[in-house]
Formats: sequence, C-alpha cells, structure tokens
Amino acid sequence: MILVFAEQNNGTFKKATFEAINYASKIAESAGTQVCAVVLGEADNLSLLGNYGAHIVIHVSDARLNNLEAKAYSKAISTIATQENAQYIIFSNNNTSKAVAPRVAARLKAGLVVGAISLPNAEGIVKKSVFAGKAFAFVQINSSVKIISLTPNSFGIELLEASAEVVMAQPIDFTGNDFAVKVESLNKVTGIVPLGEAELVVSGGRGLKGPENWGILENLAAELGATLACSRPVADSHWRPHHEHVGQTGGTIRPNLYIAVGISGAIQHLAGVNSSKTIVVINKDAEAPFFKAADYGVLGDAFEIVPRLTEAFKKYKANHA
Ligand code: FAD
Repeated sequence: MILVFAEQNNGTFKKATFEAINYASKIAESAGTQVCAVVLGEADNLSLLGNYGAHIVIHVSDARLNNLEAKAYSKAISTIATQENAQYIIFSNNNTSKAVAPRVAARLKAGLVVGAISLPNAEGIVKKSVFAGKAFAFVQINSSVKIISLTPNSFGIELLEASAEVVMAQPIDFTGNDFAVKVESLNKVTGIVPLGEAELVVSGGRGLKGPENWGILENLAAELGATLACSRPVADSHWRPHHEHVGQTGGTIRPNLYIAVGISGAIQHLAGVNSSKTIVVINKDAEAPFFKAADYGVLGDAFEIVPRLTEAFKKYKANHA
C-alpha cells in the first residue's frame, strides 16, 4: 500500500494535497498496489479524493485533530501505516509535514527524503534540490518503509473520474500526552493561495521605497490572481508581513511565474525563488544581479512599468474574455 497524508483545513483540501495523492498514485501504479489517503479531523466528501488517485480514504474523524497536533498526527499516521503495511508514506512538503514526517520516520524507523522533485526510480532513488536549488541530490532510501515529502508544484495534477472508498479508522490509542499543546486561537490567512502553492507570484523589494507604494503590486497581483511575496529587508522593515518573505531564511517557492520588482537578486533571495519556472525581473539598474537569473528582464522604473503591465493584462483579459 502507498499511504498519503491528505491534509485538510476545515474540510478543504489544498492543491498540494491533490498533487501528493497524484504522486502517490504513480508510485502505486508501478508497484502494482493501491493508494490509501489518510484524513485527520472532521471532514466530508472524502470520496472525491478518488479523482486524484486515492483508492481508499481512511478517516480519523476525531475533532481534536482539526488543527495540527504533531504528536497525535504522527501517532495516527504511523499506526495506520503499520496496519496497512505501507511501503511508502507521502507528504506534501510544508510546515505541517516538517513537524509530522520526521516524527513518523522516527516511530517507524523509516528513511525520509524531504523536498523530493521526482518519483522514486526502480531502485527507490529520489531526486531533490540541494544547496538552494544550485544542485540536485539523488537519495536512496534503504528502509523497508520509505517516506517522501514532495515539493509542491513539482509534479502536477492529473484528474481522474474515480471515487475512493471511505472507511473510518480503527480507534487510535491516543493519550493526553499526544495533545500536550493547547491552541488558544488561530488566525489563518484566507482568500489567497498560500505562497508555497502559488503558481503566480508578484514580489517586491526595497526598490519600492516604502509600504505606501505596495498598491501597484497589489493591483498587478489582483489582475493576475497572483500571490504577493517580498524580499527579507521588506519584511524586516515591517513593510510587509513576514509570511511573504522568500529566500534562504524565508519561504522557498516554485511558481510557474515569479515577477520580481525592485529586488536586486542577492544570492540569499535567489535561494528561495530560483526554481520558479519563469522569472521576470523589473529593475532600473542594468547591473542588478537578478537579471542573470531572469528569463525576461525589464529595465526601467517600477513605478512606471508595473501600472502599464497591469493595464496591459487588463486589456488582454478583456479582449480574451
Ligand atoms: P536591495 O538590495 O536594496 O535592492 C533594491 C533593488 O531595487 C536594486 O536592485 C535597485 O536597483 C532596485 N530599484 C530601486 N528603485 C527602483 C525602481 N524605482 N524601479 C525598479 N527597481 C528599482 N534576502 C531575501 O530577500 N531573502 C532571504 O531569505 C534572505 N536571507 C538572508 C540571510 C542571510 C544570512 C543574509 C546575510 C542575508 C539575507 N538576505 C535575504 C538579504 C540579502 O542579502 C539582500 O540584502 C536582500 O535580498 C536585498 O533585498 P532587496 O533586493 O529588496 O533590496
């Protein structure tokens, strides 16, 4: 069996979860086995996970699992993995899996590859990016249970016309200690695609001069349906919230399109964004290092170019509606 952790939020699944299920289904196909998706917390319509390649959904509907509880999550996932005799356990690489996957690996004495960008080959070797995307490592997992956390947006999603069988999990032997953390309140960012999953990203740097000028980027992002990001000094100066900071010490992203405005392209910034499929750089300094990493460069003043770009997208959309 190939197990996949299907992370949900108030009954909604992230795109990255569908991608992880799809990835698991490709492993199952070549291993001649099935995909079992594990859902923790209250949720319904779980048979829809069949559309992404799950054959069975095992649901632990305990309301205490509605929010991340790393100890309880890892106990539930490793218990089900043992019951189902899982060969692989697949996660999407995000903050939840960073807390849970190593715990599952320790419980099951399983090898773990974090940030995979390929399917395992016949020898179980998986490719991942290392040194901030400057090189690849090919990692062999030798343990009998293998754990992979997949870099979001590295695999793609294929829709199937299938529905999964949903079964309730056998009771998990939780103790009070598994719920040692009490969540007092939770403020989730809503209404935008989280940066880690975004296909389109508009990002701003110190070249924007101050938070009062972010409107031009917000308009461009709204026109494109893109998520906003920023360089570290921008977040450090509280011009933008910290969750938008990308780079070596911020988020690592892999969108289809990254538009960098007024960002110099320091190596620490590139570390988080250089796996983007297409990079567009807007900068008024022809010597800005970011131009070397760009697929398309626009040399000029952001305050003039960005509004024109937004207008051009608006017109394009109106003509192609
Ligand atoms: P600047 O370097 O000041 O660049 C501003 C750019 O805007 C310039 O290229 C300029 O030509 C351009 N510009 C100015 N005005 C305009 C205009 N009107 N129109 C168009 N362009 C204009 N940085 C990160 O981003 N992420 C990280 O995770 C990160 N981690 C770090 C970790 C360590 C250990 C260290 C030492 C540094 C780290 N940094 C990180 C900081 C990094 O080295 C750079 O200082 C930072 O990325 C620079 O941010 P910036 O490009 O916004 O600003």
